Order: sequence, then structure tokens, then C-alpha cells
Amino acid sequence: MAKNRGLLNNEEEWKGSAESVAYTPNRGVFLMLMAASAAMVIGAGFIFWYVPTVGFKNIHPALPYVIGALFSGVAVFVLIGALGISIALIRGSSIFPSPRFRGLLVKFFLPLMVFAGGLLKIPRIKIERAFIDLNNRMVKALINKMIKSGKRFSPDRIVILMPHCIQYDNCKIKVTRDVKNCVGCGRCEIGGLVALAERYNINLFVLTGGTVARRKLYDLRPSAVIAVACERDLTSGVQDAYPLPVIAIVNKRPRGYCLETGVEIDDVSQAIKDLLGESMAPAAYNPG
Ligand code: SF4
Repeated sequence: MAKNRGLLNNEEEWKGSAESVAYTPNRGVFLMLMAASAAMVIGAGFIFWYVPTVGFKNIHPALPYVIGALFSGVAVFVLIGALGISIALIRGSSIFPSPRFRGLLVKFFLPLMVFAGGLLKIPRIKIERAFIDLNNRMVKALINKMIKSGKRFSPDRIVILMPHCIQYDNCKIKVTRDVKNCVGCGRCEIGGLVALAERYNINLFVLTGGTVARRKLYDLRPSAVIAVACERDLTSGVQDAYPLPVIAIVNKRPRGYCLETGVEIDDVSQAIKDLLGESMAPAAYNPG
């Protein structure tokens, strides 16, 4: 087993690219798009109700009111969802720790907000960062609720998924086959991650792409996932994995996308503790 699995202490060498700025969730943009999405749905609902009404009366006098009630129901549903998610954002927690509420965000509002963001020329990465932030808080709220009811995730049912680009570019060791092949030289964070995973008895995989990651989840059927990647991959991964709870961690990109990326090991460690519950977690992990 490797003796040195500490992080490479080379922060000063990371000059960073335009995409490697510190991760900061942009809640303002997210809230604005949430309102725009709700307005679009309600406006479209009104038009689709109003226009046919002229003809509906000729079919049956009550039909316009039935259709109106239907669209009103949809509008109330969207409003409650948008309001709930907005309050969750403002309060910094999930007011409805339910998988369905998270599903509303993942499957319904996110595509709508991406569409609205495209129309308003808002960079997609800002929407994705806010989505990741909110998803993580919703997942943590669900976990807390689960722990309060006496249930816990078993460590061996949790998987950590890392992108292959986190590996030191010149390392010849094949860690995608088995992360334990890593000798922990310290040139990239894989050594530290292997030590962390071993400490908690959690499965860690370094994967070559999103398709392999989906296949891995399909094969292993875990209870929860900690995923590290860029915003785009994390967003699509969280959507694809739903309803599986995924704590998503945005990677560091000192050399741009897909080359010698990195991750804050403390963030991964914290995600493990969140999934296991603070009280049952072992002592804090000390890199190196
Ligand atoms: S993956 Fe290679 S470069 Fe990275 S820590 Fe392990 S042995 Fe070192």
C-alpha cells in the first residue's frame, strides 16, 4: 500500500483558466429564471385557454370553464413549485425535503430554465451552478430527514465517481480499471481520494466518461452517489441518475476542461459525512 497519498502541495502552480474561477452559485440568476419560467408557463396556459374558448362554447357551454379550471390547476402547481424552490434558495435549505419536490426541479424546472436562459442569453454555466447548489441542498435535506427517521446509508452502498481527467497527465498507471493501482505518488488527488474511500469503506471509481458512469450506476445500483465533474456533466448526470440522490461537486480546472482537473478533498470528505450522518462518521480525514 502506498505510503504517500497526500495531496500534491502545488496550489501555487495552478494558474487557473477563465473556467477555473472559484465555484460560486449564482442564486440571483436562478431566481430570475425561475420567475421567467413560471411566467412563460402561466402565459402559455392563458393563451391556450383563451383562444379555444371562442370555439369551445359551441361544443358545450361548460367546456370553456372545464378547460380554464384545468389550466388554473397547472398554473397553481407551477406557482407553488416555483415559490417553494425560490424559498428554499433564499432560506438556504429545502422546505420540502421530498424526492418529488426534487424531481420537480430536476425534470421540470431545469429544462425550462435552460430554455429561458437561452432566450435571455444567460450563460448556461450560471444556471448549472445554481442548479447544482440547490440539488445538493435538497439531497442533504432528504438525507437529514432520512437519518431523523432512523435510516442510514450503508457505506458500501455509496459510490464516488471521478472523471479520468483528474489523473496526472503523465501517470502511466491504469486507475480506470482499479483505483487501487494508484501508488499515491501525490502528483494528483487520486491517491488522497483512494485513502479517503478506504477509510470510509466506500467504493471509488475513476471513469472515462458519462456513458461509463451511467453504466456503472446501472450495474452497481448504489443508494447514493458523490460525483465530481464539470457543471455540464454534473447537471446531466444528476438528471439521468434521478431519483438516485447525487451530491455533485464541481471540479477545479487549473488547466481548463478535461486536463489535470482537481477536486477539494475536503468537499468529498464532507459529502461522505453528510451521506453517512455526522454522528456515525469516523474522525475527520487528514490529507497526508
Ligand atoms: S494516479 Fe498516478 S499520478 Fe495520481 S497519485 Fe496515483 S500514481 Fe500518482
